[in-house]
Amino acid sequence: MAVQQNKKSRSKKGMRRAHHALVAPNIVLCPNCKAPSLSHVVCPTCGTYKGRQYLRKGTL
Ligand SMILES: [Zn+2]
Repeated sequence: MAVQQNKKSRSKKGMRRAHHALVAPNIVLCPNCKAPSLSHVVCPTCGTYKGRQYLRKGTL
């Protein structure tokens, strides 16, 4: 196991943790069914993405 040679300063700890902030997911309205869904992801409501049907919804 790697063991650090010197104690990292509070400043260095803050620099490392500067990238730890959480970001809110990018919610967009589906162009097909207008339901809110994640961008660049197949719509969980109607199953379409970029005009193509990827999931079977309501056809069973
Ligand atoms: Zn949709």
